[in-house]
Amino acid sequence: MNRVIPYGKHYIDEDDIQAVVEVLRHGALTQGPKVAELERSICDYTGAKYAVAVSNGTAALHLACLAAEIGAGDEVYTSPNTFVASANCALYVGATPQFADIDPQSLNLDPEDLQHRCRSSLNVRAIIPVHFAGLPCDMPRIRAIADGCGAVVIEDACHALGASYADGSRVGNCRFSDMTVFSFHPVKGVTAGEGGMITTNDEHLYQKLLMLRSHGICKGNAGGNEIMNPANALEADELRTWYYEMQVLGYNYRITDIQCALAISQMNKIDLFLRKRQEIAATYDQAFTSLDAVECVQLAGRAQSSHHLYVVRIDFERLGLSRHQFMKRLASRGVGSQVHYIPVPMQPYYENRGFRLQDYPETERYYAEALTLPIYYDLSAEDQKLVIESMYSLLQ
Ligand SMILES: *Cc1c(COP(=O)(O)O)cnc(C)c1O
Repeated sequence: MNRVIPYGKHYIDEDDIQAVVEVLRHGALTQGPKVAELERSICDYTGAKYAVAVSNGTAALHLACLAAEIGAGDEVYTSPNTFVASANCALYVGATPQFADIDPQSLNLDPEDLQHRCRSSLNVRAIIPVHFAGLPCDMPRIRAIADGCGAVVIEDACHALGASYADGSRVGNCRFSDMTVFSFHPVKGVTAGEGGMITTNDEHLYQKLLMLRSHGICKGNAGGNEIMNPANALEADELRTWYYEMQVLGYNYRITDIQCALAISQMNKIDLFLRKRQEIAATYDQAFTSLDAVECVQLAGRAQSSHHLYVVRIDFERLGLSRHQFMKRLASRGVGSQVHYIPVPMQPYYENRGFRLQDYPETERYYAEALTLPIYYDLSAEDQKLVIESMYSLLQ
């Protein structure tokens, strides 16, 4: 069978393996010290005040919506060019997802279109910008639009751990948002196997997130969460030893110490990971300048991006070759590729709820042309050369 270079891949070294083995030999498997250690590591790295680790990025989005008290009758704006989870979180809390179109170069929410659509909506409660492929959105603009309609901002930064805003500060510091969400799925830049994180600078949101992560249960007056029923909780001013109190409807969205140990170890390598991805992107950018059929995108933001994905646009219609056929030809040369994303409004579930791709013309055009090429930490120079040569031989 011929080997196919994947479009993305995690990287695990001996230190990662040892970190996990250490927890298995000596540590608590869940609710132990590794959870807080990973949270601290993400706070230190991003500059956020608080971080709450959860079981995956989708759970992180769900809890962020719950903590922001988004619910029935509320509208939540996000990008159509994203994974379904960015919009589904609105549905989880009974709100209505809405989409604005993307900018054809950044492939992120187009602030003009977002502003226009938000102005004609009555109940915009949240905006969830997605930093597509690791390129941060224009956050000062998006914050201003949100402020204009009294909405909260939850950044979907699942692609963007390690990316920075135009002002040079790190994504996740919540300078322009109420909360920021990350994922540690193996296709993302840093992995825990499965895992997610919410960062915030708001202590009230932080306390709510902690409680929602674990059944809505409060175990005492620790932190900011107060006991609601002191008559049941206290005996001679002491908290009864067995006491716990469910105050809100929460979930079991906890992450294990095993997963956190892996992510902590991965965080030690994040600068290496990012530098390598940047080099790979620069090599592609350079190589494709002389290949007319390939349009590079997101070039203006290269210095800010975490380069989670390397995406190009190809006019397959003009080429007279379907993308499916093209991807099969690449694969037969050993080159894997992918499409990010099938726009959320055209998913049958969303179409059945009245959404239409044609309402987002830039997204529709981009989707017809999108192709994701391999980028990951241990993509070898030879393998990248094979990708570039295959593109030339199929497109020149
Ligand atoms: C991966 C991803 C998610 C979901 O994260 P999981 O950890 O897989 O639940 C949400 N949004 C975006 C943009 C993603 O890429």
